[in-house]
Amino acid sequence: MIDPGQVWLVGAGPGDPDLLTRKAERLIQAASVVFHDALVGPGVLALARAGTRMVSVGKRSGRHSKDQPAIDALLVEAALAGELVVRLKGGDPAIFGRAMEELVACRAAGIAVRICPGITAASAAAASLGTSLSLRSCARRVTFVTAHARKGDRLDLDWTSLAQPDATLAIYMGKAAAAEVSGQLMAHGLPRDTPVAWVENASLPNERQFRTRLDLLALAALTALGDGPAIMLIGQVVGSVELVEGGLEAVAAGAIADQIPST
Ligand code: SAH
Repeated sequence: MIDPGQVWLVGAGPGDPDLLTRKAERLIQAASVVFHDALVGPGVLALARAGTRMVSVGKRSGRHSKDQPAIDALLVEAALAGELVVRLKGGDPAIFGRAMEELVACRAAGIAVRICPGITAASAAAASLGTSLSLRSCARRVTFVTAHARKGDRLDLDWTSLAQPDATLAIYMGKAAAAEVSGQLMAHGLPRDTPVAWVENASLPNERQFRTRLDLLALAALTALGDGPAIMLIGQVVGSVELVEGGLEAVAAGAIADQIPST
């Protein structure tokens, strides 16, 4: 399975090395070269064997040390030289991870390329908050959305479909656009007191989390967030215990009976 001349796009999870899959750990230990993003923490990088070539290819918003075509070329070059290449990405490679560009570049060069999934930031944040992303009564869908826009561009999102009270929104890369996210969601009908939770550095020792509401979320982002990666969860599931319990009462009233395993 782990042969030289291959590229593996490996999910490093949200930061805590204990949240890696066993397969990711095996791949990191087998790699001859690891190309990693800036978001991959030291605890994960430390799992590589001594002598493994570790190459940071940057990628924090606004601070890209290499552009995507340059990264694609590095992967291809190393694989063609017979290396076992691990491309280590924060969270899950297939969620806002530019995986497709790397898959296409490798395949075009005739290189075997595979994906090892990882725990995405939304899942890690929900776990830290001690909540579920979905809830039968009031969060029947979960939407992963990026609020990252190219410099100078406006955020081009379908706000009508995002401003749904029966959904949970997990907004990646949303710090810079927090005011626009809040304003647009309210303008498209989402109540201003919709619960919001920010989780910064989810799963890491310096994790911080705080809860606010839709109309205050930009202010909260400005005053409370540091410069670590942060994700925003919006929806009833991150509301006060009373709110969630209200939802659970509705659930208990019938709808979820078929989901609760009988003992
Ligand atoms: N592929 C990654 C997402 C990459 S986009 C994944 O599946 O998680 C980078 C964004 O992910 C950050 O701006 C932030 O919004 C979020 N993120 C990544 N790691 C995080 C962490 N430990 N805590 C909170 N948010 C995180």
